[in-house]
Amino acid sequence: MTILIRGGTLLPMDSGPRAMRGDLLIQGRQIVAIGKVTAPAGAQVIDATGGYVMPGLVQTHVHLVQTIFRGLAEDLSLLDWLGTRVWPLEAALDEASLRASVRLGILELLATGTTTLLDMGTTHGGDVVMDEIARSGIRARAGQAMMDTGERVPPGLIETTRASLDAAAALITRWHGHDSGRIQYAYAPRFALTCTRELLEAVATLSRMGGQLVHTHSNENVGERALIERATGRAPAAYLVETGIASDRAVLAHGVHLDAAEVDALREAGASVAHCPSSNLKLASGIADVVGLRAAGITVGIGSDGAACNNRLDAFEEMRLAALLARGRHGPDALGAWDVLRMGTTDGARALRAEREIGSLTVDKRADVLVLDGAALAPGGDPATRILYGGGSRAVRDVIVDGQILVRDGVSTRMEAAAVRAASAEAVPKLTARAGLS
Ligand SMILES: [Zn+2]
Repeated sequence: MTILIRGGTLLPMDSGPRAMRGDLLIQGRQIVAIGKVTAPAGAQVIDATGGYVMPGLVQTHVHLVQTIFRGLAEDLSLLDWLGTRVWPLEAALDEASLRASVRLGILELLATGTTTLLDMGTTHGGDVVMDEIARSGIRARAGQAMMDTGERVPPGLIETTRASLDAAAALITRWHGHDSGRIQYAYAPRFALTCTRELLEAVATLSRMGGQLVHTHSNENVGERALIERATGRAPAAYLVETGIASDRAVLAHGVHLDAAEVDALREAGASVAHCPSSNLKLASGIADVVGLRAAGITVGIGSDGAACNNRLDAFEEMRLAALLARGRHGPDALGAWDVLRMGTTDGARALRAEREIGSLTVDKRADVLVLDGAALAPGGDPATRILYGGGSRAVRDVIVDGQILVRDGVSTRMEAAAVRAASAEAVPKLTARAGLS
């Protein structure tokens, strides 16, 4: 398939703040030309006149299985939110509700401009999640959550260390590298309080051997931090460094409560942080110091976390909030609009070790591209300012992933939105009944 995106203002995000008028040509999975391009015979032409063309957004922390938990876990702090709502709901997921949740999540992510995600999964159903990701066309790094211990975790969500590792190994065999690498496995040890040291050390070794990412939560909340310190004798990030989890293949969601020594240790280990501002505010966890982390040399990506704590999955919203919070703490020039767009694109790609493939619009990169409708953005400001503050996801019109048009004129091409929403609505009451939360 050949696609020519014609006449827009391109934000390549390849170097510095730069926008240019031009066309973009996609052949197969790749970007093959940028600039003044004549449409090849048979090309599908997308007119982007008056709009913006930018890389698809990369979300470095999401929970697709929690999309249908939206509104079911309100006004709680992290450990109660997990213990009284989210874990019982995850334990009650069956195949139908799992499929419904993942589909709805991907529908919303694509519609708001996310083309790559890093997903945490839940303890079971890894094949179902992967199957839905594969069908949807979205790019993903995803894994099945690993929990082999933990207070308040329902028995159904705890596996033996061996079973958890075996499940990951089987999923890697089936899905790692699927569809020319569009899908790659990422180990997902959930967090230090629900993983034994044995499990963490095994994941560190296996992921190093296999080259997979490691996706976990850390330093999210004061109570969690204190419990980890009591259980391990270490600060949370220091413990992840000591067990080998925090490496240059690791993405740590949150990083809200990090001391200076932990920041140094994470930088030295090469670990990345996923900044999830809506989730951190809604669960009253705190505010991560993104400016400080970036200044320390740590790669920081953006994540909406799950719909159970956001309640939206809109990466443009997260970027806007990231910028506003950084300014509130450090001053009006602390984090510019271009820097934040970079967090949502190239930095996110770097966090996933995928910067050679995605995150910017350059020839030979995979074709993950957004076309934004200029008329949907408030006028005024340079392109990054206008996109970040002037409307963000409201303007997402066309979404291309790996050379496939997945959203055209705001409409999903592979999923029937009404059917996806109806399936979710049908799944929720049965789910809450099974979880004993009706
Ligand atoms: Zn999370």
